[in-house]
Order: sequence, then C-alpha cells, then structure tokens
Amino acid sequence: MKKFDYIIVGQGLAGTVLAFQLTQMGKRVFVIDKFRSSTSSKVAFGAYNPMVLKRFTACWKVEEQLPPLYQFIKSFEETFDTGIHTPLQLWRKFHSVQEQNLWLEKSEKPRLRAFMNTTFKSNDSEEISADFGFGEVKHSGRVDLKKMISIFRTHLDAGGSLLNEAFDYSAMEVSEKYIRYQSVEAEKIVFCEGHRLTQNPYFDYLPLMRTKGELLTVKLKGFQAKQLLKSSISLLPLGAEEYKLGATFNWDDKDEVCTEEAKQELLSKLNDLVNISPELINHEAGLRPTVKDRRALLGAHPSHDNVLVFNGLGTRGLLISPYLSLQLIDFMEKGKMIEPEVDIKRYENEMKC
Ligand SMILES: Cc1cc2nc3c(=O)[nH]c(=O)nc-3n(C[C@H](O)[C@H](O)[C@H](O)COP(=O)(O)OP(=O)(O)OC[C@H]3O[C@@H](n4cnc5c(N)ncnc54)[C@H](O)[C@@H]3O)c2cc1C
Repeated sequence: MKKFDYIIVGQGLAGTVLAFQLTQMGKRVFVIDKFRSSTSSKVAFGAYNPMVLKRFTACWKVEEQLPPLYQFIKSFEETFDTGIHTPLQLWRKFHSVQEQNLWLEKSEKPRLRAFMNTTFKSNDSEEISADFGFGEVKHSGRVDLKKMISIFRTHLDAGGSLLNEAFDYSAMEVSEKYIRYQSVEAEKIVFCEGHRLTQNPYFDYLPLMRTKGELLTVKLKGFQAKQLLKSSISLLPLGAEEYKLGATFNWDDKDEVCTEEAKQELLSKLNDLVNISPELINHEAGLRPTVKDRRALLGAHPSHDNVLVFNGLGTRGLLISPYLSLQLIDFMEKGKMIEPEVDIKRYENEMKC
C-alpha cells in the first residue's frame, strides 16, 4: 500500500487548487482524474472580477476572496516558474443614461469605491457600438486554467501521484481510520468532481443543478481591443485578433454538446457590440456545477468524517476556490468550522428524505 494524507478525486479547478494548497503545506496528495479534453474548467474564460455587473453590486465576500486568489496565483507561478495570470481592464458597456447614473451613484458607496472607476470610458473605436461608453471595473483578470491544470497534472504524474481513470465507488474501502482504493491508502478522500457529483453515491443527495454554458473563439480582423468587454456577452481578448465570446446559460440541457442555437445567440449578441464579421475558430460547451442557493458545497459526509466534498463552484469558481479551499483545509486539519452558508450540513435533511 502506498500511503498518502489525501486522495482527491477530480482535477479540474477545484481539485487543482485544493491539491496544490495541500502540497504547499507538506501534505502527501494522490489525485484520481479521468482525463477529458473538455470540462467546465478547461472551457471557462478563467476571468474574475469583484462585481455583479447586472446590478452593480459587490460579489459575496469578495474582499476576503481576492487576497487568497492573488496568493494562490503567486505561489503557483513561483513553484512552477511559469505565468498563468493576466491582470485585465474590464469595461462594462452602458446601455442608457440611467445606467450611467446608477454607476455614479453606486461608485460613491464605500464598499464599491475600491472596485469602480468613477470616470467613464468613452467609446473611441469605430468598430464598437457603445453610445453611452463604459464603466471600468478594477481588480479584474484572467487565469489560463487549461495551462494551470495541465502543468499541475504533469507534476503529479512525474511524482507518481496521479491515476488517470474514472473512480470506481464500489472499490473504495472506508473505515474510521483510513480510506483504501486499489493500492493507495489515505487518511481522507475529497471528491472534486464538478457536475459529475450527481453520479457519486455518497453525495448525490446534494442539489447540484448544472448549468450549461457555451462559448465561441472568433477572429475579428482589424479589431484590437485590450480590455475584457462586457455587455450582454463577454468578449475576452486572446491576442492576434482572436477573442473568446460567451457565455450562454441553459438550465435545461444537461449535456456538453455544442448547439447551433447557442452559436447563433452568441453571434447575434456579438453583432450588437462589434460591427466586424467574425471568423469562427472554435465552439465549446461545459456544465457549470451550480447549486440551488448559489453557494458552494463543502464538508464531510454525514456518516463518514473522512469522506469529503469540494464542489458547487458555480459561475465564479476562480474567485472563490482559493478562499474556500483554505477553509476546507482548516476544517480537515484543525477541526475549524466551515461557514454555514457553504457547509453541506445545510442539506442534511435532503439526505434523509
Ligand atoms: C462556458 C463557461 C464559462 C465559464 N467562465 C468562467 C469564468 O470566466 N470564471 C470563473 O470563475 N468560472 C467560469 N466558469 C465556471 C467554472 O468553470 C467552474 O466553476 C469550475 O470550472 C468548476 O470546476 P470543478 O473542478 O468543480 O469541475 P470540473 O471542471 O468539471 O472538473 C472536474 C474534474 O473531475 C473529473 N472527474 C469527475 N468525476 C470523476 C470521477 N468519478 N473519477 C475521475 N475523475 C472525475 C473530470 O474529468 C474533471 O477533470 C465557466 C463555466 C463555463 C461552462
């Protein structure tokens, strides 16, 4: 038996952030992840911003989430001597004078002052239609999640700490003192399976909704935006006149298949923002692990203290995952309480039903 402190099942954003933080603390981690080229984490923009841009409000606990995010990025980049992070200017398109006024009003509020620039950005590009200009959000950026996941996977593999296969729940031996799986023994196991949590017999009672998102990569010849532009869609510059464009929200489809309907919706919204014919380069789809109360899912199984879950990262996985992973680690290592809003204890009644 090879002995580890933790087995982590799933190496998307959640599994990578958690496993990295644990290894930084000197913990021995073994990861089981079935490689898939297209997952929620791999198709995501990987953008973060501190605000909800529909209503011009601050995100839940964002002041507590940004420092662990920056710390995680710094440690990851230093450990692997690589760059995964690009700070970005985020420009929110105004659709009316009323929106401009609301922006000014909100940017006076003490909590929002740190995130909102009070000076509007006028539209000086002939290719963009934005008569009322833009509001600038501070402290935004992007992490190349595909690159981050790939670098960490290679590192795990090189250290003999990766098993590339779908986890077989019936082969797991759970006792109070250990978890055994094939030739691996660990003190605890944490499931970080994204939307596939719905197939996990230990946690399938949790209300994971799964929200499908589709996005396009397009080339816009002659268009040179440097900012992440947000209107009814997001337009993320990748360089060389290529942009990621998205994303859709579909609560009914529960597959990762690209649809013509979503493609047309995105192209039509792009047309409202930029007057250049796009050249389609790529079309991707993923299922966001969303929860009915829009809060993440952290904690231990009601009957097994050493079987845990880290999921429900929703639409803002990047911003919240370093903060939440540290909270889960404090719970697992020091017995500290998980904040009730994200603790899976809030759904214990659903298990008994
Ligand atoms: C179109 C789109 C755009 C998005 N844009 C952003 C964005 O800009 N910013 C942001 O913060 N968030 C964004 N999100 C949300 C973000 O992608 C998710 O919050 C996050 O990626 C979820 O990560 P995860 O690790 O929980 O799940 P996943 O990414 O699904 O990873 C789960 C991993 O576990 C593996 N796995 C699952 N079950 C098993 C098993 N039983 N055995 C072995 N392996 C298993 C899977 O193969 C996968 O590798 C976006 C999502 C979509 C769909």
